[in-house]
Amino acid sequence: MDRLGALMSFRVKFNLVLLLTFALALVTATVYYKHEVQKSTLEEVKHEATLALRAAFAVRSFSSKHISPNFDQLPPDEFRAGGIPSFASTETLRILFESYPGYHYKEAVLNPLNLANVPQEAWLKEVIEKYRDGSIPYTDDNAAVHIRDQTLHLLRPIQIQEASCMACHGRVQDAPPAMVNIYGSSHGYGWKLNDIVGVQIVTIPLERSNERSAAAFRNFLWPLVGVFVLLFITLNILLQYWVLNPLSLQNVTLNRLASTDALTGLMNRRAFMDSFQMELDAARYHGTPLILLVFDLDHFKAINDTHGHAQGDMVLRTTATTISQALRSVDHLARIGGEEFALLLPATTLAAAKLVADNLRRRMEQQVTENPPAVTGSFGLAQWDGKETREHLLKRADDATYAAKAAGRNCVMVATAS
Ligand code: GH3
Ligand code: MG
Ligand code: MG
Repeated sequence: MDRLGALMSFRVKFNLVLLLTFALALVTATVYYKHEVQKSTLEEVKHEATLALRAAFAVRSFSSKHISPNFDQLPPDEFRAGGIPSFASTETLRILFESYPGYHYKEAVLNPLNLANVPQEAWLKEVIEKYRDGSIPYTDDNAAVHIRDQTLHLLRPIQIQEASCMACHGRVQDAPPAMVNIYGSSHGYGWKLNDIVGVQIVTIPLERSNERSAAAFRNFLWPLVGVFVLLFITLNILLQYWVLNPLSLQNVTLNRLASTDALTGLMNRRAFMDSFQMELDAARYHGTPLILLVFDLDHFKAINDTHGHAQGDMVLRTTATTISQALRSVDHLARIGGEEFALLLPATTLAAAKLVADNLRRRMEQQVTENPPAVTGSFGLAQWDGKETREHLLKRADDATYAAKAAGRNCVMVATAS
């Protein structure tokens, strides 16, 4: 049972280690993969935003290079909004983003002609100021990413690089009158060449890309869990058939070998002492009597000497069979020495035990005629006193056997009280 328990706990331990290893691998893979998927979806969104920003910049450049310079050739009361780069780019991107919900383009300018372009958010004003005072260095290409409330903002500073810009944003008196009529004269003027006046902003919501990365993550996770479950089942089957089954078979065989006397097939002394202890405990618990009978074959050496060792062995085997056949299933018979046997009779009174012992003695005697060479036995019988140890009881039964020898052999002697 102990060995079986050890095998069971081996399987539990094996599976625990397997589960822990997988959990560790899963957590590591999850953290790593989630990070990588989020990074790459963010890169994709950034790429989209950059493309939109470049498109807006291209429209701005086109507007200021090819439309704005023609303002002075227009009649004073005619004004074309397409010549204002911020209007041209904002409108173009608005049309472009009509089929992209949540996508926006705007220009935030500290001193704009169109007051709708004044930045509302404090963080946005702060970023523009940083571009202006140089704390964020300006290069043509240094778009900055800001992620706020599940939204990506890609910002690029607007620098006044074309002299033609000054025609509208320099002095009020130089500006096209039609434009002054529309936007007024109090704001949007006084810009200087190379000034950073604001930023272009492309805004893209991150929900969809987050959903995409979550889906990609799930698609990675479930197959991984599936592979583990398959591995778990396969390893358990292999463990069962290749390791545990052969081991438990070997254990059964080993247990049997360790507790059996090879010559007679009876219990050996070690196994008998275990059963003895169990019966003693049971008798103590239930308050039932317990009898120990020890018997030794008489003049056995002579049988060996006369007929040979093999014949002696055969007598031992025959004796074991003869005695076994006369016993109840609850009795325990063992070969505890060379030609010495022990018999435990649970729940048996002394009077009944005496009858049993005499019956056994006679059976052995009768065996003589059937199975030469002749053999008899000397029997020592002891009743457990309700307190003594198994060793003490065994000693008393042994002494009774010696007494039977002394009394002339082939007889039963009852042990004296302890
Ligand atoms: P007593 O009546 O006083 O018991 O005399 P005995 O000859 O039986 O006792 P003794 O102790 O002198 O001899 C026991 C013999 O049992 C000696 C030993 O060779 C023999 N013997 C012990 N084990 C085996 C065995 O497994 N097979 C055989 N054939 N003989 C054994
Ligand atoms: Mg003997
Ligand atoms: Mg002996």
